Amino acid sequence: MDGTVKLRIGHLYPDLLNLYGDRGNVQCMVMRCVWRGIDVETKEYNQGDKIDFSSLDILLLGGGSDREQRIVGSELRKIREDFHSYVEDGGTVLAVCGGYQLLGHYYEIEGERIEGLSLVDLYTVQKAPRLISNIVLKNEELPFEITGFENHGGRTFIGKNRPFGKVLYGFGNNGEDQEEGVLYKNVTGTYLHGPLLPKNPHVCDRLLRSALERKYGITQLEALDDTQEKEANRYIVNRFCKNKKSTKR
Ligand code: GLN
Repeated sequence: MDGTVKLRIGHLYPDLLNLYGDRGNVQCMVMRCVWRGIDVETKEYNQGDKIDFSSLDILLLGGGSDREQRIVGSELRKIREDFHSYVEDGGTVLAVCGGYQLLGHYYEIEGERIEGLSLVDLYTVQKAPRLISNIVLKNEELPFEITGFENHGGRTFIGKNRPFGKVLYGFGNNGEDQEEGVLYKNVTGTYLHGPLLPKNPHVCDRLLRSALERKYGITQLEALDDTQEKEANRYIVNRFCKNKKSTKR
């Protein structure tokens, strides 16, 4: 791809929402652009920084503890209108765990409500015990399973929205409906934190593709050699879903 194709990635509140090294997910997006000759720029936004959403193609919100979510929640509410327009205009967003919960109407902890952004029709209520597990998902639009790790007290309910994936192993949104995460326009919300994108290059490429399509009408990405990632993925799927049918690749 020639140098005129460029993506700008915004990382929101990396100092507060970085519970499991979410910065690594940004680096993964950057490298998969660089390997394809796509220009890429990243910018971190901290408390009080002005965010020009019109200059951004991808936004990442990481995971955070309840305390950090309270702080970030009040920051985000100040920029809610611009964030909302960005989402409705098809801007790409990846929101992980604490960040995912803040996309919704509220996150309720022992009767207290942290108001969310209401960008996506969902809500979260905290309940014991914490849902901690390796997790494997299936999204029919992706070539193979999504693998990861979850650790959350919140139970999220996404109403009529599409989930990010069906749970093959693990708890997912609430431990009840075998669904994990949410997909709304080009927003992906998920409880899979840590190295979500390095472990799941197909998820990373899905985000890059949606941003490139919105900006340039590009729908095809150059294939990269993901042999090792696919082997690791297959190992995990076999380990946790032995008796379930996994995708051939
Ligand atoms: N505080 C939230 C919960 O426990 C999110 C935690 C996280 O980001 N890992 O549900």
